[in-house]
Amino acid sequence: MTAVPDALPKRVRLSTLTTLGVGGEAELWVAETTGELAAATRAPYRVLGAGSNLLVADAGVGERVIKLGRAYNDVRGFGAGHGSAHDVWLGAATPLPGLVRRAAEVGWSGLEGLLGVPAVLGGAVAMNAGTRFGEMSDTLREVEVFVAGGLERLPADALGLSYRHSSLPPGAVLTRVRLRLTPSSPERVRAQLARVDAARQGQPKSKSAGCAFKNPPGDSAGRLIDAAGLKGLRVGQAVVSPEHGNFIVNIGGATAADIVRLLELIRARVGTPLRAEWELWGFGPGTLKEVTCAALSS
Ligand SMILES: Cc1cc2nc3c(=O)[nH]c(=O)nc-3n(C[C@H](O)[C@H](O)[C@H](O)COP(=O)(O)OP(=O)(O)OC[C@H]3O[C@@H](n4cnc5c(N)ncnc54)[C@H](O)[C@@H]3O)c2cc1C
Repeated sequence: MTAVPDALPKRVRLSTLTTLGVGGEAELWVAETTGELAAATRAPYRVLGAGSNLLVADAGVGERVIKLGRAYNDVRGFGAGHGSAHDVWLGAATPLPGLVRRAAEVGWSGLEGLLGVPAVLGGAVAMNAGTRFGEMSDTLREVEVFVAGGLERLPADALGLSYRHSSLPPGAVLTRVRLRLTPSSPERVRAQLARVDAARQGQPKSKSAGCAFKNPPGDSAGRLIDAAGLKGLRVGQAVVSPEHGNFIVNIGGATAADIVRLLELIRARVGTPLRAEWELWGFGPGTLKEVTCAALSS
């Protein structure tokens, strides 16, 4: 049987491409070149990174879903041949976990706070991913984006990066990012990674999309959910993690509908307004479920 080249669009279940493991079908376009990005963006589209911050509807999404292919993954070459220059351009499909590991091996500091974030660089920049130990904006200097049919470079300052937020130009696909890392030593970088790792201990291992809600100013969504006695609350196969109140886990076969109902219950029972950290795909306006999701994203 002949393998289907990545460049050809194909129908896939997004549950297979998201860490929560839920979501219906979409047409997937894997782009390896600027030309393929140009072709893929000729109809309405969404951009998928590692799918680690997404809740996708059970009915899937109508738009094309574009994923950058291997040509945009530079984890292998990272750290080699850069000499003393610590400004590096990396493809937006480079996986963050591999990058954090490689940076530690060569003794470059700046990415330690991102240990444990299962993103690719494009998604990490789009979300300004991070922890209390550091975030993407600390090292990001410049990006290359495919927008309005061509490639453009933008300084990091132009992206409006703030807590789990960026303001990319509408429709922009991040293709490459320039990071500025600080020379250090493998020992020092590893010591900082150990601190970050210790702080992540106890994080749920089941399928999730990280924290469901943003922390309200001066408080923690996880603490509020815990204080409301909601750990362990379950709808179908979706559960508020007993280990971390802000993680909703799929214990096997959860649907997006289960998860949305659980989100509604949490919001109703926690006194403080909570805003979704996840991005919700495929929940258009019109039904109760969809209205709920729109409210969650606002
Ligand atoms: C176990 C676990 C732990 C987590 N811990 C953390 C944490 O500590 N801190 C944290 O901040 N987050 C955390 N997350 C959430 C998640 O990893 C981050 O939000 C991450 O930035 C999402 O990146 P992604 O590549 O998976 O993007 P996706 O989830 O695929 O997409 C997220 C957004 O980025 C956009 N996007 C992706 N790629 C591109 C691109 N090339 N161009 C333009 N837009 C793009 C998408 O369109 C979407 O809007 C965790 C998730 C899990 C599952």
